[in-house]
Amino acid sequence: MRRREFLVASAAPLWLSAPARPAAVKADEPWYATMRRCGQINFNERDPLTMVPAEWMDYWASLKVNAVLLNGGGIVAFYPTEVPYQHRSEFLGSRDLFGEMSAAARERGLRVVARMDCNYAYEEALLAHPEWFERNQDGSPRKEPECPWLYKTCMFSAYFTEQMPAIYREINIRYRPDGFFTNGWPSTGELSVCYCPDCMKIYRDTTGGVPPLFTDARSAIYRKYYATYMDRIAQVWRLWEQVVRENNPQSVYVGNLGGGLATVKDLARFGKIAAWFNADHQGRNPDTPLWSCAQQGRVARSVMEGRTVTNVIGAYATGQPVWRHASKPPAEATLWMAEAAASGMVPWYHWLGGSPLDRRWRQTGRVFYNWLAANEDHFRNRRSMAEIAVLYPQSTISFYRTDGTPIRKIGEERINSTDYVQGLYEALLEGRFLFDMIHQEKLSLSALQPYRALLVANAAYLRDSECETIRQYVRSGGSLLATFETSRYNEWGELRGDFELQDLFGVSVAGNVAGPHNNSYMRIERSHPVLSGFTGTEILPAPQFRVPVSHVAPDSLVLNFIPPYPVFPPEMVYPRIARTEEPSAVFRESGKGRVAYFPGDLCRTSWTSGNTDLNRLLRNAIGWLVSRAEAPATVKGPGMIELFAWETEPGFALHILNYTNPRMTRPSLRRFYPAGPFDVTFRLPAGASVRQARALRSGRTLSFHTSGAALRMQTPTVNDYEVIALT
Ligand SMILES: [Zn+2]
Repeated sequence: MRRREFLVASAAPLWLSAPARPAAVKADEPWYATMRRCGQINFNERDPLTMVPAEWMDYWASLKVNAVLLNGGGIVAFYPTEVPYQHRSEFLGSRDLFGEMSAAARERGLRVVARMDCNYAYEEALLAHPEWFERNQDGSPRKEPECPWLYKTCMFSAYFTEQMPAIYREINIRYRPDGFFTNGWPSTGELSVCYCPDCMKIYRDTTGGVPPLFTDARSAIYRKYYATYMDRIAQVWRLWEQVVRENNPQSVYVGNLGGGLATVKDLARFGKIAAWFNADHQGRNPDTPLWSCAQQGRVARSVMEGRTVTNVIGAYATGQPVWRHASKPPAEATLWMAEAAASGMVPWYHWLGGSPLDRRWRQTGRVFYNWLAANEDHFRNRRSMAEIAVLYPQSTISFYRTDGTPIRKIGEERINSTDYVQGLYEALLEGRFLFDMIHQEKLSLSALQPYRALLVANAAYLRDSECETIRQYVRSGGSLLATFETSRYNEWGELRGDFELQDLFGVSVAGNVAGPHNNSYMRIERSHPVLSGFTGTEILPAPQFRVPVSHVAPDSLVLNFIPPYPVFPPEMVYPRIARTEEPSAVFRESGKGRVAYFPGDLCRTSWTSGNTDLNRLLRNAIGWLVSRAEAPATVKGPGMIELFAWETEPGFALHILNYTNPRMTRPSLRRFYPAGPFDVTFRLPAGASVRQARALRSGRTLSFHTSGAALRMQTPTVNDYEVIALT
């Protein structure tokens, strides 16, 4: 045992054959810092009639979870509350379901987090406290669409600062849970606009008017409202954190954040106030790629600086339609859990309803969690070994091209502001690169120092200070890839006269965004490492949109723009202009640093069109910025995979997620299609040594040979997921 560490005594009774192994907790670390597995049974109002605590807790204990989420109260109290206007479950009778379930959890050595809901309340509360509730423009209270007997509470009202704290205090005094979690709040989606008297006063006194209904960063009122809204979330979050610790200094308040790439609310701000970040990214929608859970892990880590991140994983059939009481297919659920673990998150397996008629999900969770528990030490990460930083462009994702309507457009083309990062992400996976995300508000020279390159997929909206950090990073030897409108606007979308990063790009803006182009091209003018593999062609397809830019010296033109020409009828399909002097790419070298700038929306068009030339161009450009000979790990062999490399407490771990599947971009996986075996080269940091290599998923010891700092080995065939642990 290391100094300043002690073991938490296991409270598990003897009848449990193999309890969750007590984790080594550092004296100054909170209890959840060492948690690696979480489970949630979400009660419904009727559950007190039938729910059997011992059966449920035997199940969760069999998964070796460290903590369970159990419904306390808010909308419905599952204990005999005395707090006025908190609705007791009408089926509660003489039971205390939260108390019984908590006791059963603790008998088995499991931590308990009270799952709360602050978003709705019953008519009884509305009649007594009309000021607690959100209002429509006509003054009527907002009803829950499916359950119109529930009314939406207003975040700016005393419901959040008085009623919820009263409920937390009552639960804390009676049951002393290890933490509190609020379902659905604050979330990272769009801001709501309420017309209650409290909110109208804010619009009058603070924001200078009623804010637009939809995200509109061009509106000065919206910007003030955004700031006021984030301030209120921070105020409520801190209040609740303080209240839940009154009676229990070890307790924690956890808000609900996520899920996925798309966010409107300020993640960097939540990252500062959240002791523990919970992402609510439970599964895929029809247009969600398979890697979205691992991507969520990268987004959350971009603001959490190594602190605890959990991800809720729906054991039920998430998506469209939603089937809350039917199991997700085992392959889909297993890979989603694997992505959470690989990306450094703690999986939180979630089922709804205490008397399930579909119990197939249970075995899926048990099998994966028991494997995780058996290999838990290798999931205790110290640091990422990634060599590339990918910017999380919060301002662009939140505000790009919004005008107060729910649809983002450039011209007539519908724009999803996450498509830029998504296209880059896909290229990074196909190129087998090791990368982390860094939130734009977390940019600093020291944060960028571990990385050899920063990749910026159309961060159109950037602060002056963020651009200055990028400039200094490149001057100090870092490399940069940037695309399309990067740095053309400030963080609120106010247009600058030129790219703020014009000096790095080497070209200036020469006109408004052009497109959508059909049938435009990039002509290859001369050979360049970025064009490797493009033999047998003098042109490449061009992106759908571009920023027209100033010309460069003819001898530095590598790709130039060929304007669009008709697609139809075939007689008319020929270029009217064979070549221009407008560059479609700029490649620059200064000292150790390299810059690749693409004026087209290369990342987005690559993603939305699926065009392989655009994807290859992106991969080649990244490869030109970071020499593969020095990569921390290279993985060769057939398959579509995602990689993570971590320095862990026992050594190192290389995670390989197998996405090779016809259902990669649409739910749900039916089965796995094995990938590999892979030839792995792993470069150890200076001073490190390795005695053993094990493939944890296949349970095999691997032979390896060493040359200098490089370890070479072959992995087994990867079915769903593999972790190569080096110790
Ligand atoms: Zn209100």
